Amino acid sequence: MATLEIHDLHVSVDDGENGPGKEILRGVDLTVKQGETHAIMGPNGSGKSTLAYSLAGHPKYTITSGTVLLDGEDVLSMSVDERARAGLFLAMQYPVEVPGVSVSNFLRTSATAIRGEAPKLRTWVKEVREAMERLQIDPAFAERSVNEGFSGGEKKRHEILQLELLKPKTAILDETDSGLDVDALRIVSEGVNRVREGGEVGTLLITHYTRILRYIKPDFVHVFADGRIAESGGSELADELEENGYEKYVKGGA
Ligand code: ADP
Ligand code: MG
Ligand code: MG
Repeated sequence: MATLEIHDLHVSVDDGENGPGKEILRGVDLTVKQGETHAIMGPNGSGKSTLAYSLAGHPKYTITSGTVLLDGEDVLSMSVDERARAGLFLAMQYPVEVPGVSVSNFLRTSATAIRGEAPKLRTWVKEVREAMERLQIDPAFAERSVNEGFSGGEKKRHEILQLELLKPKTAILDETDSGLDVDALRIVSEGVNRVREGGEVGTLLITHYTRILRYIKPDFVHVFADGRIAESGGSELADELEENGYEKYVKGGA
C-alpha cells in the first residue's frame, strides 16, 4: 500500500536577503495512506506552501532535518523528476507557463515519464477527451500552450485534468480552491472526488478556507500553525475552524 510518511521535517528558506537559515517548517509529522484524504488548513504564512514545495523538491527550500518516505523510498534524495515518477503529484499554487508546449503534448510527455512508456495513442486520445468532458473543458484547450494566458479557473481545471490522467500515488493540492467561482469549485471538487473514489491515491489538500471542504469531505483535518501541525482531528475539526477561525492557534492567540 502506498504511504507517504513525513517525519520531523524541518525546512529553511533562502529569502535572498538574510541568506539561508530562516526556519519555516519546525518539525512536521504526517502520514498519508493510499485512499486517505487529509486536509491541511492554517493561517496565511504558516508554512503550508513551504511543505508542498519541500515535498516537490523546490531548490529554494533546504531540508535541515527529518525524513520523507514514499512506499519506504527516500523522497528527499530524489530529483524533481524522480519524485514524479515515484508517484508524487504536486499541483502548484502558481503554475509555471510552458510556452510552445501544448496541453495535449505536455500531458502525454508527463504520462510517458510516469508510466515508463508512452500511452497508446488511440486509447490516450480517448482518455484525454473523456477527462476533459468530465471537467467541462473546451476541446480547443488541448492545443493551447501550458498555462499561457490561462485564467485562474483554467489553471485549476488543468491541474485536476493532470491528476485524473497521471494517477499518482500521492497528490498534493495547494490552494486548489483559490480564485474559483462556485461552479468551477464544484467541477474541480468532483474531479478530486473521482480520483479519491478510485481508492488508490492519497490526497493532501492544502487550503486556507473551509469552503472546498463542503464538497470534498476529508478523512483527517490538520491545523497548521507556525510551521508545524498544531492539532489533528476528523472532518468535524473543519467545522470548528469555520466557526472560530485560527485565532487560538496563532501566536499570542487565546
Ligand atoms: P502559507 O502557504 O501557509 O501561506 P508559506 O509557506 O507560503 O505559507 O510561507 C511561510 C513563511 O515562509 C512566510 O513567512 C513566507 O514569507 C516565508 N517564505 C516562504 N517561501 C519563501 C521564499 N521563497 N522566500 C522567502 N520567504 C519565503
Ligand atoms: Mg523537531
Ligand atoms: Mg500557501
